[in-house]
Amino acid sequence: MLTTTEKPVKQLSKPFEPDLVFFEPGALDYPLGKRLMKRFEMLGIPIRMTTSHNQVRGIPGENDLQQYRNAKRTLVVGVRKTLTFDTSKPSAEYAIPIATGCMGHCHYCYLQTTMGNKPYIRVYVNIDDILAKAKEYMEKRKPQITRFEAACTSDPVGIEHITGNLKRCIEFMGQQEYGRLRFVTKFAHVDPLLDAVHNGKTRFRFSINADYVIKNFEPATSPFLERIQAAGKVAGAGYPLGFIVAPLYRFDGWQQGYRELFERLSDTLPDEAGSDLTFELIQHRFTKTAKNIIQKHYPNTKLEMNEEERQYKWGRYGRGKYVYKKPDAAELQETIEQYIYQHFPAAKIEYFT
Ligand code: SF4
Repeated sequence: MLTTTEKPVKQLSKPFEPDLVFFEPGALDYPLGKRLMKRFEMLGIPIRMTTSHNQVRGIPGENDLQQYRNAKRTLVVGVRKTLTFDTSKPSAEYAIPIATGCMGHCHYCYLQTTMGNKPYIRVYVNIDDILAKAKEYMEKRKPQITRFEAACTSDPVGIEHITGNLKRCIEFMGQQEYGRLRFVTKFAHVDPLLDAVHNGKTRFRFSINADYVIKNFEPATSPFLERIQAAGKVAGAGYPLGFIVAPLYRFDGWQQGYRELFERLSDTLPDEAGSDLTFELIQHRFTKTAKNIIQKHYPNTKLEMNEEERQYKWGRYGRGKYVYKKPDAAELQETIEQYIYQHFPAAKIEYFT
């Protein structure tokens, strides 16, 4: 239901379905667009037409906050016109654009600053054009491998049961000598991807965290245990597996919280998962702009963003961010790496930042 009151958003166990769908007319020229129209008609979800996603109007809500929440439950089905891919260094060469926006409500989500006032979810029906462009990028770089990241602007697993586009990308990349795919998710709804013919060319990563962090700061994503169980299924399907542990966050009892995370992970993953496993470690950070937006969207957040307890790290273009002070960051890194070595001695820690 579209929200008109400000109830807390809960963790999401069932796959997401939007409350409202907009179609760009051009989307109906594609088989996927037609299929999606039928799907939403059958589900009885309200459908409206819009000349372009920029013209989406009428998302209900009596104030900005309600509109923001309702927008995150609104889907726009359209055609991807910009087929120039953004770069996605250092973990991939390019971002492959299969969707933008997300129904999750992670308080620290980077999309809050990058998507501005358009937080609705967009999916693209011209997946063949997108894959053809990816092929062009690979051809230009071969014999070097070209890596594509599919989660730069969205969480593609959370909407996969609707479009099937991620499976198309995985199977396409499975056939490419010079291409690799990677993405990260906070959703456990992986079943449609388990039988994809990936040929080991896709690294399936989960964003994981201590239960406390997921419960308090990641509403409308999959709960802790379901995410870990999903990772077990993905490992069982033979995908190269990875975990982004982010944001690493110092809460009361964080050592115990993260210890439990790695114990659970080790108990749940099949043994063969440990042989090709990567970890990426990212400490919590925020910018002044992000802090303002977070406080506006989640006014009761418990997320600690006290500049005095942090260290300012200058970034590119003079835009810096607040990270933990050196001793705190070092302690986080040392503790988490120790848990990883203890439970997954063969895993590769790609970086801590
Ligand atoms: S699941 Fe990922 S993309 Fe979605 S809100 Fe959370 S951090 Fe953002």
